[in-house]
Amino acid sequence: MLSEFDLIKHYFVRPSHAAARATLGIGDDCALLTPTPGMQTAISSDMLVEGRHFFAGADAFKLGHKSLAVNLSDLAAMGARPVAFTLALALPAADRDWLAGFAAGLFALADAHGCELIGGDTTKGPLTICITVFGELAPGQALRRAAARPGDDLWISGTLGDARLALAGYWNEVTLSEAEQQASAVRMHTPTPRVALGRLLAEQGLAHAAIDISDGLVGDLGHILKMSGVGATMEVDALPAGPVLATRDAALRRAYTAAGGDDYELCFTAPAGARAAILAAADSVGTPVTRVGRIEAETGLRLVDAGGQALDLRLAGFDHFAS
Ligand code: ADP
Ligand code: MG
Repeated sequence: MLSEFDLIKHYFVRPSHAAARATLGIGDDCALLTPTPGMQTAISSDMLVEGRHFFAGADAFKLGHKSLAVNLSDLAAMGARPVAFTLALALPAADRDWLAGFAAGLFALADAHGCELIGGDTTKGPLTICITVFGELAPGQALRRAAARPGDDLWISGTLGDARLALAGYWNEVTLSEAEQQASAVRMHTPTPRVALGRLLAEQGLAHAAIDISDGLVGDLGHILKMSGVGATMEVDALPAGPVLATRDAALRRAYTAAGGDDYELCFTAPAGARAAILAAADSVGTPVTRVGRIEAETGLRLVDAGGQALDLRLAGFDHFAS
């Protein structure tokens, strides 16, 4: 039997390495971080609960990746550089294969972003993973939700909708070939946090407001609009669909790009004068970006087709307590 302390030591404590950032890592009552002088700390938590955020029996490696990815996505949406994270884990049993897979997925992504595990908590219970990330950024650079301004362009990184399509495939709401199911499921199980893009947008002062799209674009964009006291017109057919969704009809494309969920792309607003610099920044980090609309003084979100005609799509963001 694996004791709690053996489990932590074996799967989550790593030999100290040159990239270590924490002044004191796992093992004491607290970890110690020494912030870079003059920088602000960005902090965010995200919890994943079995049966709610992922299927029972989900692949442990992918779950390790996704648990950290959704947290790094919040740092990306703020424009912060990842530094460290904590991991609170409730496990039904100390299953060695599961722990090894989970830790491998988690650390592969952590190392890719130079983000160090500095502590956490481990307990027996229904499988629940809660990560808190710490990042840093210069004062005044954070991409706040409340910072959109009338006249800003509305931008989306990457592509939308394939994660929702994978879910629809699992639920038999749509028919997908095995290859299509697998390709779209990659987006659902192993999302890519747009950290490098978010940092460039913040560091170069290119964007005003940003949010990461976790609960569906229309709902998440709604947070920017509300907190900024502005509105927007968005061209739904300009939304970049994931490669599998792109082969489907317009109705499904519109629904899943506009309100799919689990995309972990960035939605950001920026002055029109920044267009060329944004395209260059996005190109330099290999993340495509697409301009999909405009921020306006008139509140509310207006969805239009390519000809500018109003679309009446009944779309809603995902709300855990409404479903
Ligand atoms: P305490 O009882 O003081 O909260 P614990 O005995 O729970 O401390 O944890 C011992 C050390 O192991 C602490 O430094 C804690 O941060 C770390 N730790 C516990 N669980 C994890 C985990 N899942 N991942 C990383 N570090 C962990
Ligand atoms: Mg404890």
